[in-house]
Amino acid sequence: MRQSKLFPKTIKIAPKDATSASHKYLVQAGFVDMLQAGAYTYLPLAWRVITNINKIVREEMNAEGGQELLMPALQSRSIWDETGRWDGSLSDVMYQFKDASGKDLGLAATHEEVVYDLMRKFINSYKDLPLAVYQIQNKFRAELRPKGGLMRGREFMMKDLYSFHLTLEDLNGYYQKMIAAYLRVYGRCGLDAKVVEASGGVFTDNFSHEFQIVSDAGEDRILYCDGCDFAQNTEISKLKAGDKCPKCGLPIKEGKSIEVGNIFNFGEKYAKDMNGYVNDAQGNKQPIWMASYGIGISRLVATIVEKYHDEKGMIWPEAVAPFKIHLISIKKDEAAEKIYDQLVAAGVEVLFDDRDLSAGAKFADADLIGLPWRVVVSEKTGDQVEVKKRHQTESSLIALTELLDQLK
Ligand code: ATP
Ligand code: MG
Repeated sequence: MRQSKLFPKTIKIAPKDATSASHKYLVQAGFVDMLQAGAYTYLPLAWRVITNINKIVREEMNAEGGQELLMPALQSRSIWDETGRWDGSLSDVMYQFKDASGKDLGLAATHEEVVYDLMRKFINSYKDLPLAVYQIQNKFRAELRPKGGLMRGREFMMKDLYSFHLTLEDLNGYYQKMIAAYLRVYGRCGLDAKVVEASGGVFTDNFSHEFQIVSDAGEDRILYCDGCDFAQNTEISKLKAGDKCPKCGLPIKEGKSIEVGNIFNFGEKYAKDMNGYVNDAQGNKQPIWMASYGIGISRLVATIVEKYHDEKGMIWPEAVAPFKIHLISIKKDEAAEKIYDQLVAAGVEVLFDDRDLSAGAKFADADLIGLPWRVVVSEKTGDQVEVKKRHQTESSLIALTELLDQLK
C-alpha cells in the first residue's frame, strides 16, 4: 500500500477530550473516526488490525469445534419477553423502539435468547449435542458514559460463542477448554490475560469468569496473585490487597484492569425459561444446557494500544499489526520503488511512504502508526536498507535478503 493513497491522513492535533493513549493515538493516526459518542468508523488501518484479530479468534474458536454463523441484530420483543429481560435487566441497556406499525423492536445487546430459540428449533435429539456456534458482530448498548475511542462504545464489536450440551459435566468440560482457547487468543494478540472470578454467574459456583488485562487505563479493579492464577474482581471479593492468597499464601495485589472477555455458565436456566429439552439415549427428557462466551473485539484493539505505546505513538505486535513494514524513502527514487516491489512480491505486508515530505515528518508518522519494522532507503543506504524495529532506538544496515530472512 502506498501511503500517498492511504485513507485518511494522520492528524496533527490529538482529540482534545482524549484521556487515554489508545483514544488519542487511534484517532490521531487515522485508525478510527467518531460519528457520535460511542460510535466509530473503523478506518482502513484499524480494519486491518480487526481482521487480524478476528483471524486469530476464528482459528481458536474453530479449533474447539465452533461453527461460525451470523444472527440478526434487529430483534423482536417477544423473544426477550420469554426470559423477562426486555422489561428486566436489559431494559436500560438495550436500544428499544417501535417501528411504523407499532411493533416493539430492539437492537442486539447480546444474543442468548436469539441463539437459544434457534437451538430449540433445530436440536431434536441428544445426537445433535454437543454443539457450539459463534459470530463476530456489532452489539448495541445504551452506555451512559461511552469512553472516547474503542474502549467503551454504544456500538462495538464482539465475538460471542454459545455452547449447548446434554449434561452439566459435558458443559463444564467445554467451559474449561474455552478458558484455554481464550488465553491462546489473548496471548497471540500480545496480551497476558488473567482469568478472574466475577459476578454474573447464575449457576454452579455463582461466578462468571472475566478475562482481565492489568492496566491503569482499565475501569475494573481486580485482586490477583503473582504466585499463582488466583484472581477475583473486587466487586465480589471478600479479600483486600495484602491479604494472603487463599490458593498459595502469598500477599495479594490489587490493580486496575480492562475486561476483554467474559464467559457465563447458564446451566439449565435457558432450558427452563425457553423450554429447550431433548430426549437422551434412554428416552428421558433432558434440558439443553448452555454457556456463553464473549470477547470484546473492538475493546481489544484499544487494550493492545494501552499496553504497547510510547510517547511517540503505537507499537503494534506483529501478529495484529496493520502492515508488517513501514518502508520510507527519503527522496523519491528508483531504489525505494524497486525494494517496495520486491517486498510486495515476497508477500510482505508493507506500507510504503512514497510521499513528497521531509524525513522528519515521515519518521513522526511511522512512530505514530507504529508498524513493527521501519525500513529506510536513502542515498546513504546504497544497495542495503536501514532497519529498525519500532521499539528500538538504533537502526542497522542490512541487505534486503537478510531482512526477508528475519521476517520469516
Ligand atoms: P462492562 O462491565 O465493561 O460494561 P460487560 O460486563 O457489560 O462489560 P459483557 O456482557 O461481559 O460486558 O460483554 C462481553 C465483552 O464485550 C466484555 O468482556 C468486553 O470486553 C466487551 N464489551 C462490553 N461492553 C462493551 C462496550 N460498551 N464497548 C466495548 N466493548 C464492550
Ligand atoms: Mg462482563
